[in-house]
Amino acid sequence: MRKIILSILLVVFASSLGAKTTFSQQDVERLLQRMTLEEKVGQMVQLVTELFGTKDAQGHFRIDAAKCDTLFGQYKIGSILNVPNGYALTAAEWQEIIGDIQKQSMKHIGIPCVFGLDQNHGTTYTSDGTLFPQNINVAASFNRELARQCAEATAYETRASNVPWTFSPTIDLGRDARWPRQWENFGEDCYLNAEMGRMQTLGFQGIPVDGGSSAIDKWHIAACLKHYMGYGSPHSGKDRTPAYISLADLREKCFAPFLAAIREGAASVMVNSSSVNGLPLHANHELLTVWLKEQTGWGGVVITDWADVNNLYNREHVAKDKKDALRIAINAGIDMVMEPYDAHACVLLKELVQEGKIAMSRIDDAVRRILMMKQRLGLFDQPTYRLKDYPKLGGKEYAEMSLNGAVESMVLLKNEGSLLPLSKEKMVNGKSSNCKFLVVGPNANQMRCLNGAWSYTWQGERTDEFAGDRNTIYEALCNEYGKDNVTLCQGVTYNEKGKYWEERVDSGFAAVLPRLAQDADVIIACVGENSYCETPGNLTDLQLSENQRNLVKALAKTGKPIVLILNEGRARLISDIEPLCQAVIDIMLPGNYGGDALAGLLSGRYNFSGRLPFTYPSESASLVTYDFKRSEEVETMAGAYDYNARISCQWPFGYGLSYTTFAYSPLRVDRQHFTKDDVLTVSVDITNTGNKAGSHSVLLYSSDLVASLVPDGHRLRNFQKVTLQPGETRTVSFQLPASDLAFVGYDGRWTLEEGDFLLTVGPSQVKVTCSETYTWLTANK
Ligand code: BGC
Repeated sequence: MRKIILSILLVVFASSLGAKTTFSQQDVERLLQRMTLEEKVGQMVQLVTELFGTKDAQGHFRIDAAKCDTLFGQYKIGSILNVPNGYALTAAEWQEIIGDIQKQSMKHIGIPCVFGLDQNHGTTYTSDGTLFPQNINVAASFNRELARQCAEATAYETRASNVPWTFSPTIDLGRDARWPRQWENFGEDCYLNAEMGRMQTLGFQGIPVDGGSSAIDKWHIAACLKHYMGYGSPHSGKDRTPAYISLADLREKCFAPFLAAIREGAASVMVNSSSVNGLPLHANHELLTVWLKEQTGWGGVVITDWADVNNLYNREHVAKDKKDALRIAINAGIDMVMEPYDAHACVLLKELVQEGKIAMSRIDDAVRRILMMKQRLGLFDQPTYRLKDYPKLGGKEYAEMSLNGAVESMVLLKNEGSLLPLSKEKMVNGKSSNCKFLVVGPNANQMRCLNGAWSYTWQGERTDEFAGDRNTIYEALCNEYGKDNVTLCQGVTYNEKGKYWEERVDSGFAAVLPRLAQDADVIIACVGENSYCETPGNLTDLQLSENQRNLVKALAKTGKPIVLILNEGRARLISDIEPLCQAVIDIMLPGNYGGDALAGLLSGRYNFSGRLPFTYPSESASLVTYDFKRSEEVETMAGAYDYNARISCQWPFGYGLSYTTFAYSPLRVDRQHFTKDDVLTVSVDITNTGNKAGSHSVLLYSSDLVASLVPDGHRLRNFQKVTLQPGETRTVSFQLPASDLAFVGYDGRWTLEEGDFLLTVGPSQVKVTCSETYTWLTANK
């Protein structure tokens, strides 16, 4: 068989010098028919890179021909993932490794390998590429084009490394403030996740020209939507723990981002490691096969998360051993197993087919999907490209994009007495002198904190080594205000060798603080979290650490104004120190140019335009999302049942200030009554009423006033970001399909019910009425 494939490929290669895709979908079908069972199951197994090579005397990883003889020659492995040394390589190093992998794969199987990598906020594992703000920041920008552009730049730099597939975007809904992966997602709302995930898919893969399964060119890569689904609502708040989600919410909220990105042609989906309603997603035929594949007609690849077939028996206890787990997972709809360390899975898969426990048709379906993805990527035509074809790698254009993203994402939460922007000069006794700043806190001088995890390593602990030439907050403030005007004394630091939450308190800080504060006009307190990811990022207390809160309390005693900078992946509670600070900014995880962006925002060179993509809680026992039910907030009832149920938060979803102000006209809608096929045009005039130019995200919400299933209080339906000069007015119009106002009922069906809806934009509201109930017969609208 290998010879036949090779001869097809030689013809293809010969004709592919002009880089045209010639290996067609029909060729995939022909190939599939000729493949042996061993070759098929090999395509379905993904192993880690280190199994295919060894480190040389200098510690450089090299692909090893003998290991390939076994893994490609004997097991016919079809896919590889991950960085071999645990830290980022240069694009040139990747070129060498992937080049060798492809040669070995072609030699032994005659089919190119598809290599996958977590390039999660830019090129996580390509050291000379670009790191962008994390997804939580992209969400806060409420700028769809920013999401697309950053993904497209990531695709370019990833392909420059000869890697054609990324495990991104992450579109779980971050519904639990405690969850350690909040920052990897686009916040708590399903529409925002759907829009940003859709745009990132278009950025990674390119805009499809001929429908969902069109070719992905040499500047783009295959996306992998993760983690399907319900991962972001763990009951315990901890990573990879069970979630319990109603059928209605599963369809209406969790599924929505996946459906939106699939409709843009997303090539693959990775599965949630945990369980929803008692059934591990990796064993859920209804969600993997019926919802994801059959009801959508989607032809992409479903891959497990890391070792999750093993977890079906090790951790979840729904399988008795590995073979049983493989049977369950493949029959549920898994196409590729991220094994990731043991090729023996191939043997077990083959046995399961021979024993009739997995149908050959299921294997063919899985392998077809995998080969089609390779075909879409043009890997059959040309599996590798030259580094010199990618001159923009790690260049100025992408650095500026990353800086702009950071600027657009930071959220100004408080600015008492217009303390900000902080001017460079002050007048004392009629004379001008420089303003002085005292910079404190564990996040003040760390590139690691600005980036969070998935930065050069999984946990992000080596970022200061890799990105040492970029500016920390302190360094950027020195550039902005002059080194002599900025003093650094951190007071609390992280234990860089320990767990992410381990801190050290500087015992001498209390003694020097009065003098340092006396010399300063303003204190900039940089607090938050050190980098973490997945289970190592679990927490037991959502409060900001006691050391850091004590630090801010000590600063407040000096009487100097405090600007509190929150540099964190999830909202840590600060309700006791917030009143002590005159200004608060949530910079979340803004990436390598976060320090520069913050300094420019503080000085007023830039203006704030970010808005919170999540609800910032104030109390640990009051964790809600913005779309809570009205019944969760009840005013005092009369008589004996004299209670008051209240929802508290520090700042609501969508909150964010600017150095300018915006006024909203009354909301206009082109029709009062509608039925399911109508599209409502909703318009509002926005005026910049301040004296500084600014960008503003206009958010459209709807409220279903009466519904047969308790309706959400309000839901985000659209958003648009506008930039206005002082005094300028712009009309913002939204096209709102009536079907967007439908909800999923108790029976799991989409329905639009007759009755009144309130549409809200800023302070303006308008009531519209649906005049006819409609229930969809299809699973999706
Ligand atoms: C994570 C995924 C990631 C995968 C491969 C897992 O531990 O949950 O998000 O894509 O590893 O690195």
